[in-house]
Amino acid sequence: MHCPFCRHPDTRVIDSRSTEDGAAIRRRRTCPQCGRRFTTQENVLLMVSKRSGVTEAFSRDKVIAGVRRACQGRPVSEDSLAQLGQRVEESIRATGAAEIPSNEVGLAILGPLRDLDEVAYLRFASVYRSFETLADFEAEIEQLRAKRAAEKPVEE
Ligand SMILES: [Zn+2]
Repeated sequence: MHCPFCRHPDTRVIDSRSTEDGAAIRRRRTCPQCGRRFTTQENVLLMVSKRSGVTEAFSRDKVIAGVRRACQGRPVSEDSLAQLGQRVEESIRATGAAEIPSNEVGLAILGPLRDLDEVAYLRFASVYRSFETLADFEAEIEQLRAKRAAEKPVEE
């Protein structure tokens, strides 16, 4: 790998160790040209498999773009979208899987989105959980109401 300081095409590994959770390897490197040191990290690339059989690298930006569409016209800030993207990525990485089906990415979005905005959640859930009838929406809304009542028992 190139030195990030002087672009020298070769660097030397001086130390190599696993991160605490064992999910990555960090390497301390030195450049024989300029003598500067830097650290690289080697992770398993999280892949998403589509129904067509094609796999592609997981993209937090894609998650956020999909959620942003569901949030159109809703009072949801870019900051909250970014936080949601981070929560989704963390929950998927926490499973330790190297490859997940794309619909599981959709399912991982549901929980954080429900906390963020209930209307956007319903829009999104109707697609990812294949709502087919009004009864599907009604059942979901009932659950949202029940959840809300459980979380805020004293509402004035
Ligand atoms: Zn260098």
